[in-house]
Amino acid sequence: MLQVTPLKIKGFEIVVVGRDPSSNLHAIIAVHSTTLGPSLGGIRMWPYDSEKEALQDVLRLAAAMTKKAAISGLQMGGGKAVIIGDPGTDKTRLLLRSMGAFIDSLQGKYLAAKDSGILPEDLDIVAEKTRHVTGTTKKHGGSGDPSLATAKGILAGMQAACKFALGTKTLKDRVVAIQGVGQVGWNLGNLLTQQGAKLFVADLEPSRVKRVERSWKAIGVPLSEIHQIPADIFAPCALGGILNADTIPQIRATIVAGGANNQFGDEEQDPYHLMKRNILHVPDYIVNAGGLIHLYVHEILHQRRLAPWISNIGKTVDQVLKSSFQKQLPPLIMANQIAAQKLELS
Ligand code: NAD
Repeated sequence: MLQVTPLKIKGFEIVVVGRDPSSNLHAIIAVHSTTLGPSLGGIRMWPYDSEKEALQDVLRLAAAMTKKAAISGLQMGGGKAVIIGDPGTDKTRLLLRSMGAFIDSLQGKYLAAKDSGILPEDLDIVAEKTRHVTGTTKKHGGSGDPSLATAKGILAGMQAACKFALGTKTLKDRVVAIQGVGQVGWNLGNLLTQQGAKLFVADLEPSRVKRVERSWKAIGVPLSEIHQIPADIFAPCALGGILNADTIPQIRATIVAGGANNQFGDEEQDPYHLMKRNILHVPDYIVNAGGLIHLYVHEILHQRRLAPWISNIGKTVDQVLKSSFQKQLPPLIMANQIAAQKLELS
């Protein structure tokens, strides 16, 4: 039987913990803001060590979704969900149906989608218990996996960043180090290979690195080395917190641009530390908005053409990088100011 416990968290409209002993569900949904529209965000499944750690993650992720929608010009709010568990061993049909019932209990204030550890096929099962879910498979009437759109947006952002920092937007012969070759990293690597980039990759799962080495002639490196590759671009495409006091002094790339959400360990101090090292960071919630845009365009606006929206990501990156240079602020801090203005003006 599903038990839903509300938590009061300053700055958030809704935070609820859902537990169902019969399915082993232990999950949290956070709705940060519905100022611009209903909150839309993915479900992440991860073996968090504690509920506290999961809560911290879902709050940061939900707040980032609000900024992502605002800076991308979408009439959507920000929300996110996390399931505490290992997607490799704990993900069962019963648990996913139970998650569907949990989402349904919010009566549409949170629209679910996929995030790390969740596949479109899993969302088909979640949808057996709620209609408030996007990104189910095409067979089930959804728009399918948004990861390719996410990767296309990152590519557009990388091109804009290369133009800004290196004088030309070409990715041919550029060295790119990708951390995490799951759904986003894999699609991004395919696109970069088509552009003629030279790739280094690392992933927790050795089989994913092997698949990549076979497919694109990329070079696999140990987990601890990927951010230290002397690359044009370091692309974090795994989980958050990779840009921190330990790693920032070790980064040898000119640009950091990747799909992972919440890349800084300390979002107030670390962006300044990276800027001091003359490394250009492209804010994650701008470049990885392609997946959200895919769901918004296909399932909320019911339109087909995504390309103009994706090229807008490049334009937004260009605008933010130029403003941050003028004001001598880290790009993330600049982007936060622009997103806050958009929310205030709404
Ligand atoms: P995924 O689970 O398919 O892939 C993540 C990959 O990273 C996995 O292969 C995993 O083994 C690997 N990984 C985890 N920790 C690692 C580490 N320390 N070092 C190296 N590899 C590691 O997830 P995804 O859908 O590709 O999402 C990746 C990131 O992009 C997440 O932060 C997610 O929130 C963000 N994101 C995804 C989308 C999307 O459309 N899928 C959209 C926006 C943002």
